[in-house]
Amino acid sequence: MKAMVLRGPNTAFELTQVPDPTPGPGEAVAKVVTCGAGLTIQHAKAGRRKIEFPRIIGHEITGEIVAVGAGVSGLKVGDGVTSYFYLNCGHCRPCLTMLEPLCENTGGNVGLECDGGYAEYIKLPAHIFIKYPESLDYKKHPAEMGVITDALATPYKVLRRASIKGGETVAVIGAGGGIGIHQLMMAKWANARVIAVDIAADKFDACRKAGADEVVNPKDGDVVETLRDLTHGKGVDVVIDYVSTAATQEAGMKALGQRGRLVILGGAAQPFNVSARDMLTKEQAILGSRYVTRAEILEACDLVARGDVWPLVTVLKPLQEAEAVHDLVERGQVTGRAALRVA
Ligand SMILES: [Zn+2]
Repeated sequence: MKAMVLRGPNTAFELTQVPDPTPGPGEAVAKVVTCGAGLTIQHAKAGRRKIEFPRIIGHEITGEIVAVGAGVSGLKVGDGVTSYFYLNCGHCRPCLTMLEPLCENTGGNVGLECDGGYAEYIKLPAHIFIKYPESLDYKKHPAEMGVITDALATPYKVLRRASIKGGETVAVIGAGGGIGIHQLMMAKWANARVIAVDIAADKFDACRKAGADEVVNPKDGDVVETLRDLTHGKGVDVVIDYVSTAATQEAGMKALGQRGRLVILGGAAQPFNVSARDMLTKEQAILGSRYVTRAEILEACDLVARGDVWPLVTVLKPLQEAEAVHDLVERGQVTGRAALRVA
């Protein structure tokens, strides 16, 4: 099969002929139709996230099962599937209690610790594939459906993690990014008042279209003051930080009002200072949020099937153009998600 192979950190993709994968016991193989291209996997390509090489990256797939190994139940040839991002074991306590991202025996991530979707076929443990609900027209919109598994489901999960209620004010830091923009969409769907915070002013139109009621550029002035002004001095109810530097997290905490919640998801994940006094007197909380459960992916699929929300894919190119697409991702020039068409 044809595959886009990375041979080392910070190298270009090589279009390579590699052996077709065959499923062993408990495994399945899918023909890949599309695969999303986001910043998480660009971090690996650029060498900022350590992985082993050679590697075929990519996890936001839409595919169709073409072969199943011995002992596999629940999947058959022809099934439309996407992929869970974590190589979770499926039988530890977190896995059995709908907390799969916290798996005690995790094997890492699809497309990072094993080969992923930038190839004609992908082989995974069968339970890592997720069958699309019948209601979802994955054949008509494979790229959009393929990014639900991360770009849309992750923000959907945050609504629950932070117990966001209708009428609350939600600020999203890094709102112009691939997941941030879907967070605006999901917060609007939850009937929140939505504030986009980003330094990429060229993304503000897209932020408004996705659901932002207000946009704030930290380059234009003090972001904490601006968020306080926008809430008549009360502070916002929830800050969702997709950047998570010390500066963004400290600003996020200071912008919170009573019972405010700061949700941390950003890749920077830097240590930061908080006021214990503020947390105590205002009953504030800090929450980490790590990927999603399978149930949350299926629920996000249901929302898309109903037309409540729609994944934003603005760049769709053939697999052969992966290098050019990743250049756009690296430079922050993709609005929403980019995806590659494989078949
Ligand atoms: Zn597990």
